[in-house]
Amino acid sequence: MKLRCTACGREWSIDRQLLHCPCGGLLEVEQDERDWDGERLRRLFDERLAERRSLYASGVWRYKELIHPLLPEDCAVTKYEGNTGLYASEPVRAFAGVAGLLLKAQSENPSGSFKDNGMVAAVSHGLSLGYRRFACTSTGNTSASLAMYAALAGCQSYVFVPESGVAESKVLQTAAYGARLIRFEGTYDDGIRFLEAHAEELELYVCNSVNPLRIEGQKSMVYELAHSLQWSLPDWIVLPGGALSNASALGKGLRDLLRLGLISRLPRVLVVQAEGASPFHRLMAGGGDRLEPEPRPWTLASALNIGNPPSWEKARGVLRDTDGLTVAVSDGEILEAKACIDRAGIGCEPASAAAVAGLRKLVREGRIDKEASAVCLLTGHLLKDLDALKRIPAGPSCAAGSLEPGSVRRLIEG
Ligand SMILES: *Cc1c(COP(=O)(O)O)cnc(C)c1O
Ligand SMILES: [Zn+2]
Repeated sequence: MKLRCTACGREWSIDRQLLHCPCGGLLEVEQDERDWDGERLRRLFDERLAERRSLYASGVWRYKELIHPLLPEDCAVTKYEGNTGLYASEPVRAFAGVAGLLLKAQSENPSGSFKDNGMVAAVSHGLSLGYRRFACTSTGNTSASLAMYAALAGCQSYVFVPESGVAESKVLQTAAYGARLIRFEGTYDDGIRFLEAHAEELELYVCNSVNPLRIEGQKSMVYELAHSLQWSLPDWIVLPGGALSNASALGKGLRDLLRLGLISRLPRVLVVQAEGASPFHRLMAGGGDRLEPEPRPWTLASALNIGNPPSWEKARGVLRDTDGLTVAVSDGEILEAKACIDRAGIGCEPASAAAVAGLRKLVREGRIDKEASAVCLLTGHLLKDLDALKRIPAGPSCAAGSLEPGSVRRLIEG
C-alpha cells in the first residue's frame, strides 16, 4: 500500500503525512491488488455481517482489506459508521420517474453525513502515524465529522474558519464536539495554503477533502451498497457533487469491485450540481479541457457551495469510465425534491435532494430511460440545515378551537 501522484506518477510511502505531491498533483492510495482474492473476501465480508460489537461491525472496517489493510487494529476508531438504510419509497420513485429507485441514506451516519465513511479512515490513519491534533478548513459536514472522531479518540481538533461563508448549524455541531475554531481573515483557499505550509511544524494531521485516506474510507459506501444487493448494482448511481471527492471515491470503489470480480459491469454515474455552483457540469457539458472555477458560488444547498472543486480531474475520469453524465438543478428544483423525500419519511438536507432532482430532470428530458433502475445517495441528514427547513411550507395546520370529539373529527376527516 502506497501513495501515488495522479499527475506525475511518482510513488510515496504512506508512513508520513503528505498533502500533495511536490509537483502539485493530487495523491491517491494504491492498494496491493495482487493480494486480493475476490472469493475469499466475499466470504469474509459475509461472515462479518454477523459481527455486533467488534471493529468489523463497522460498515467501513468490514471492508478493511480494501481500505487500509496495514492499519493496526488498536489505531482504528469507530462509531459503527456506514450500515446505513437502503429504502424503496414509492412516492420518491414516482417523483423521479424511473422504474426502480432506491435511496441510500448516508445521512444516517453517526455525525449525520456521508463524510463519516471517509473521516473514520483518515483519523485512524493519523493516529497510526502518531498524530494527536487534527485539522481541516471546512465548516460544514467535514468539520462536524472530524470533530466527532477526534473527540472519540481523545484528541483535539482545530477547524480553520474564514470570517464569512459559514453554515451556522454545522459549526454549532462541530463546536459541541469540542473542536477549537480558529477564525481568520481570508478565504478557504488561504486556509488550505496555510495548512499545506505549516501543518508539519504545528504537528497537525490535515483531513481536508483531498486526504487520500478519506477517499479510501469513502469507497466503503459502494461496497456496502453492492454487498446489500448481492453484488449487483442498478443501471445508475446518482449523487450530488461539490468538491467531487465523493464522486472520486465512488468511481475508485467501483473499479475495485470490478477488479475483484464481485460485480461484472459498472453502473453509470450521474453527478448533480446546483446551478449556482456548477463549474464541473459546465466543463463536462461544454467539452473544454480545464475546469473554470466559479468565483462566487451560491446555492442554498450549502454543502454544494464550492466554486473550485479540487477533485475534478478524478471525477472526470469516473464519468469517462462509467459513461456517466452531469446535470445542474436550480435551488427551486432542489427544494421540491427535498419536500418529497422528507414527506416520504426519509428526509435529507438540500444538497442530498439535488440527486433526486437531477435524476428527475434527465428522465423528463429523455436522457435517462424511464425503464432504468437507479440508486440516489442521500448525503446529509434532515436536521443539518434548519434554514432550509424554514423555507419548505409545512403541511396545513388546522385550528380545532375547543377540543371536542365532534370538531376534531371534522378536522381529521376533512
Ligand atoms: C460534502 C457534501 C456533499 C458534496 O460532496 P463532495 O465530495 O464535496 O462532492 C454533498 N452533500 C453533503 C450533505 C455533503 O456534506
Ligand atoms: Zn507528482
